[in-house]
Amino acid sequence: MDLDRKLAILADAAKYDASCASSGTDRRDSVGGAGIGSTEGMGICHSYAPDGRCISLLKILLTNHCQYDCLYCVNRSSSNVARARFSVEEVVRLTLDFYRRNTIEGLFLSSGIIKSPDHTMEQVVRVAQTLREVHDFRGYIHLKTIPDASDELLRRAGRYADRLSINVEMPTEAGLKQLAPEKDTSAIHRSMGRLRLHIDEAREARASAGGSTGGSTGGLSVGSTVGSTGATTGTTTGEAPIRVIPGAAPRPARPPRFAPAGQSTQMIVGADDSDDRSILRSSAALYGRFRMRRVYYSAFSPIPDAARALPLKAPPLVREHRLYQADWLMRFYGFDHEEIVDDGTGLLRLDVDPKHAWALAHPERFPVDLNQAPRELLLRVPGLGVGSVDRLIAARRLRRVRAEDLRHMKLPLRRVLPFVIVDGHRPGAAPPAPTRASGAADAGTGTGVVGGVVAGAPTQLGLFG
Ligand code: SF4
Repeated sequence: MDLDRKLAILADAAKYDASCASSGTDRRDSVGGAGIGSTEGMGICHSYAPDGRCISLLKILLTNHCQYDCLYCVNRSSSNVARARFSVEEVVRLTLDFYRRNTIEGLFLSSGIIKSPDHTMEQVVRVAQTLREVHDFRGYIHLKTIPDASDELLRRAGRYADRLSINVEMPTEAGLKQLAPEKDTSAIHRSMGRLRLHIDEAREARASAGGSTGGSTGGLSVGSTVGSTGATTGTTTGEAPIRVIPGAAPRPARPPRFAPAGQSTQMIVGADDSDDRSILRSSAALYGRFRMRRVYYSAFSPIPDAARALPLKAPPLVREHRLYQADWLMRFYGFDHEEIVDDGTGLLRLDVDPKHAWALAHPERFPVDLNQAPRELLLRVPGLGVGSVDRLIAARRLRRVRAEDLRHMKLPLRRVLPFVIVDGHRPGAAPPAPTRASGAADAGTGTGVVGGVVAGAPTQLGLFG
């Protein structure tokens, strides 16, 4: 099979993985030559680097052969799909070729399980090792790790990858047993725990190594031998090698990095009957126990020849979107997972975003006085993000904030004003619920706003009067 065909099969097979994805859109499809800039095709996806940059990654599987039979997966052993397998050298060559053509800035590599978890993981690690050590590749590498792989392989993976991830797959252990009986929640958690340990150890070791300023002998390892020119390095105890700049005090090399962009995981939403409350509970546990950088939510998409245990329809994409918003509230806004979904259904509202829904369900907490409220309370006001809360707090140190100031701060007034008191504004009746399913940042009407800050729904002016 030629490389193009393999690429078509293995890039398509990787598109279901949301751990690095430009998901959440269905509008910009340029496949078929209509327009440019598709976010729907496969092969190259957009992801965010630890410094916040959006980067393009070559997203492929090493192989879509798999000995497991996870019911929700298009690559399961019983699936009737075209199969292919890259060699390590082919993935390395493809990555370098795409990189040199400036098409990608990194690689996202996952794989079906062949022969054994260790055999598969060994191949995945060899790709990263070859790229780093043979070709001095400095781009971003995200490796999907196999839960049952040995600790030694996880350690090697972390040396070469920027980010590692292990899919938790289902929100609950029961869901995993039902849909992926060969997988084991404890093994997944064990591997996540090991990754966390290695990440923490590497950070601490690097922080303490970086902290040693060194005097005349500071930082020199016991047993090291430095030549009279100051250029010879080495240790006699097998410790970290010594790097010496002539004329400078010698210091030990910094300990190696281990997955500096941390670990992430992915959860499939809508394949089993887990509600949003249990999904968020699982996420909160994963963030707490394993210090995940991200939990990705992937709305289940029906696959060909699906098992009967699976739903026939995909869940609404907006549910995935609401889960990401709720996840954001847990990580950056001080919300506890239990309070985000607090009605009897166990599901997030689809018609309003979770923060707005929480505010509507807790009228006793509003209106919030923008000139008095502590930061934690300001963060609960719909329409106020972390950045705008910090700007508000900075502004009120100088003088009292007035209603007109909010417009100058470019806050979404229709969302904010029904929930706040500020000089020149006091809300009237109970805040209205937005009416648009999109989350309705601005669908409220009749805010009771004074001072002419908001005077009804905006209308588009005509060009000719
Ligand atoms: S182990 Fe991974 S690739 Fe294999 S069937 Fe399960 S989800 Fe699919």
